[in-house]
Amino acid sequence: MAGPATSRSLSRSRNNGPVETMRCPFCAEEILDEASVCRYCGNALLIPEGLKVENEDLKQQVLILETELNELHRAQAKRRKVHQ
Ligand SMILES: [Zn+2]
Repeated sequence: MAGPATSRSLSRSRNNGPVETMRCPFCAEEILDEASVCRYCGNALLIPEGLKVENEDLKQQVLILETELNELHRAQAKRRKVHQ
């Protein structure tokens, strides 16, 4: 059972730790979260286009929030330097 698959999952660990899995809604088997087709029953697990668009919108908002947060951190760091 051991093989090159283990080293591949390690290189992904920079994202969210171990490879994420989900349960197939058709056969209830554990499958990769990124799968578009279940490898056990063969049913398609494609995400509706509307949800993808919604997800992209959320990603954009997260990017904006991250930028704002970074600026706040920078401003706070500056203020600390002035106090010292
Ligand atoms: Zn399935």
